[in-house]
Amino acid sequence: MHIYPSSKVRSLHRRGLPVVSRRSFLAGLGATVAAPRIVRAQVSSNPDVVVIGAGAAGLAATRVLAERGLDVTLIEASSRIGGRAYTETTTFGVPYDHGAHWLHIAASNPFVAYGRKHGFDVYPAPDVYRVFEGDRELGAREKDALWHAWDELYAAIGAQGERGNDISAAEAAAGIEGPWSATAAFGIGPWSMGKDLEDFSVVDWWSGADGADWFCREGFGTLITHWAGDIPVSLGTRAGRIDWSGKGVVVETDQGSIRARAVIVTVSTGVMASGAIAFAPMLPARKLESFEKISMGLYNHITLQFSEDVFGMGPDGYLLFRVAPDRKAFGVLTNAGGHGLAYCDVGGSWARDLEEESAEYRIDYAMGELRGMLGSSIDRSFVKGAATSWGQNPLTLGSYASAEPGAHDMRTVLRQPVGDRIFFAGEACHRSLWSTAAGARLSGEEVARDVARHLD
Ligand SMILES: Cc1cc2nc3c(=O)[nH]c(=O)nc-3n(C[C@H](O)[C@H](O)[C@H](O)COP(=O)(O)OP(=O)(O)OC[C@H]3O[C@@H](n4cnc5c(N)ncnc54)[C@H](O)[C@@H]3O)c2cc1C
Repeated sequence: MHIYPSSKVRSLHRRGLPVVSRRSFLAGLGATVAAPRIVRAQVSSNPDVVVIGAGAAGLAATRVLAERGLDVTLIEASSRIGGRAYTETTTFGVPYDHGAHWLHIAASNPFVAYGRKHGFDVYPAPDVYRVFEGDRELGAREKDALWHAWDELYAAIGAQGERGNDISAAEAAAGIEGPWSATAAFGIGPWSMGKDLEDFSVVDWWSGADGADWFCREGFGTLITHWAGDIPVSLGTRAGRIDWSGKGVVVETDQGSIRARAVIVTVSTGVMASGAIAFAPMLPARKLESFEKISMGLYNHITLQFSEDVFGMGPDGYLLFRVAPDRKAFGVLTNAGGHGLAYCDVGGSWARDLEEESAEYRIDYAMGELRGMLGSSIDRSFVKGAATSWGQNPLTLGSYASAEPGAHDMRTVLRQPVGDRIFFAGEACHRSLWSTAAGARLSGEEVARDVARHLD
């Protein structure tokens, strides 16, 4: 997710935050990295703590609890670890990130240091853009007009957010009109938040940290799997119900029941809001409301593979085009990591509409738009495409979360434990790095320390 041009970075300077543009990119198998080792665990029937979900948060929580000497059982419904951070090389023969790709906010991102230490090819994201209006490429001065529109929108949303006036970004942007305002709105909304401006809170948006992004050439999912390689996990184990009517908790799974002193739930707010995990007794109404109000945005990759660099920017450039009022847009990370993959990323309501269409339709759509800008000669270099559908994945039901307008306070409710034995962690629970894999990990570590103190 996410990309911010230099205009946002300038805004951040004004805000006095560390500078980093958002977006990370993956790449090749050049570095010598030891293969990860997934440790499969038996479901222990009576641990101290059950952790639900083996994404970055659940993995981190499990490690911290085990280091504190607690008996932990980590369960994961799917057949792999990593959750929304997932790299595979089967589809394209090169690392393909289905989810997280940018190592956002490198200065506070623990995966950057891990990657460097363990031989991954991690590097700062370049900041190179080509922008089109129809088949015409913009020159430098015209691009400045876009960055100016971006700044203007950023400032309008930021001003309301900083003031604590918890309206929607669309309301904050009211009255801003210009040839590039829809493109800037796409950049700050769907391309970054996975939501249209109408659908997220400016106070929440303002609470998010920002800074320079890095990429990992082997894929962010590969990096996370490596980091987590020695953490025991019970794969293919889905939690369906948490009974906390007695002392401790009983987590009922499709592999049997696990009795524990406490549980850490790390599944997405989308999954929580769907009721896929039932609670007996029911959770307090405010808690249930927090799952709804810290709602999932949708961000999907339509990934196209080219046999040569048809975009002409070298590895990791960005391509944008002027967005029409119908908001049907995508932004492209081109030639990611030098592997020839173009991530044509859609977000918000347009991403939802597209999820109703087949992968072939989406690939054709992206190719058609690119052809209009770069010419039909790109067909000669096109190898194949793929498209993600995170909104339809029952284990995520969206891509990453943010507060609905007026609901920033619900973040606090979301983080609160219930009954001193049901704890919540995950990307949506982090105070400033929400929506990122780093935030998920840090949230998992923080909550695990709380749980360990609590059980002491
Ligand atoms: C397309 C896309 C692009 C993104 N881009 C970036 C990016 O560039 N940079 C970045 O930092 N972040 C990005 N993100 C967000 C990032 O991937 C997430 O914030 C982060 O990985 C979430 O980690 P988590 O541990 O909180 O949740 P998850 O990774 O969702 O982990 C929760 C786990 O729980 C499991 N689960 C669900 N239900 C059950 C159940 N009932 N029982 C047992 N297990 C269950 C799930 O299978 C999953 O493995 C992106 C996400 C998407 C989808």
